Amino acid sequence: MTHHQSRTRIVIVAGTRPEIIKLAPVVEDLRRYEEHFDLKLILTGQHRELIDQLKKCFDLSPDINLDLMKEDQSLTGFLSECLASLESVIKDLSPDLVIAQGDTSTVLASGLVAYYVKAPFAHVEAGLRSNEIYNPFPEEINRKLAGGLASIHFAPTPNARENLIREGIDQEKIYITGNTVVDTLQRIVEEDLAPPAPVDPDKKIIVITAHRRENFGEPLESICHAVLSLAAKHANVDFVYPVHPNPNVSNTVHRILSGKPNIRLVPPLDYFKFVALLKAAYMVLSDSGGVQEELPTLQKPLLILRQVTERPEIINAGCAKLVGSDGELIIKEVERLLRDPIYYQAMITDSNPFGDGKSSRRITGILQNYFYDIPLPEPFTCSY
Ligand code: UDP
Repeated sequence: MTHHQSRTRIVIVAGTRPEIIKLAPVVEDLRRYEEHFDLKLILTGQHRELIDQLKKCFDLSPDINLDLMKEDQSLTGFLSECLASLESVIKDLSPDLVIAQGDTSTVLASGLVAYYVKAPFAHVEAGLRSNEIYNPFPEEINRKLAGGLASIHFAPTPNARENLIREGIDQEKIYITGNTVVDTLQRIVEEDLAPPAPVDPDKKIIVITAHRRENFGEPLESICHAVLSLAAKHANVDFVYPVHPNPNVSNTVHRILSGKPNIRLVPPLDYFKFVALLKAAYMVLSDSGGVQEELPTLQKPLLILRQVTERPEIINAGCAKLVGSDGELIIKEVERLLRDPIYYQAMITDSNPFGDGKSSRRITGILQNYFYDIPLPEPFTCSY
């Protein structure tokens, strides 16, 4: 534990859309304690629109925008650029702590640069594991390596903490905080969200998102064919699919699903519109990580389009089922949820197993304890 007389210099690094969404409440909460923290936010990708939107709810002005993400970039290409750029800015800022969130190349680069400049690294959303190194790829290894580099681990759930302990991480360095995405989402749903036009109140909406690398090719084709046959059989259901622009996704999706009256292929939605769509939905099919953590709060059943999940809490809580890309299983589960209200209701819970909306408050409190000996906040509790 370090004792600081002066303000603690913190650098927060964020890369992709989910990192910005999940770090927004952390940035804002730390900025509320100016007497303790001097915070700089670095973005490795360009997400001006998302930042501008989230500014409606959070104090989220970035200090440095590295704009390193390019189309068709290789993993090593991005990682090496990210390492070099982050090293030069982080060296200049000489922080007392570097914070990053999740499992992207940005997180791995941030942890490694923090180590090179001998600043402690704090990992938000620490300890998620599928225990399959290529599933998800490369995120499983990114988050494992980030765990190896971190001095402070903000594990969202008790299960994530157990994963870290199993890997030999000192339990004194692990704090159970809940997932910060629940903080963000709780704030967004309080906003006056416009309904995602055009919505037909007489129709049920099924939302689909699938863009993970593991689903490229044949799995995505199988998912799309399942949606196609569901749409043909259920004219009273609207299928809304915000399609990721990656050609591996959009070519397949448009080839199989375009031109059907009750399938709407739309561009990726801004976060407020996407949350509004989820709120209007009857149920969701998705391979996203963040969506797994968000849906229990919105009380919608989820079918997870993956073989494994590093978020077993949602399965244990009964709010989601793993269906992978198995077309028959997808059709069977969707149809059961459409016709069986008891089965549907059993997938709804009152409390989100991933968080209670107070995670960023806990993270600030833990850092105030770490640097200023202020008493620790109570951990997040979850029985899954
Ligand atoms: N999301 C969004 N617009 C969309 C689809 C998703 O704002 O059209 C949000 C979603 O609510 C979640 C985050 O983006 O908060 C998830 O991003 P993604 O699925 O890309 O990443 P993952 O969570 O799998 O890392």
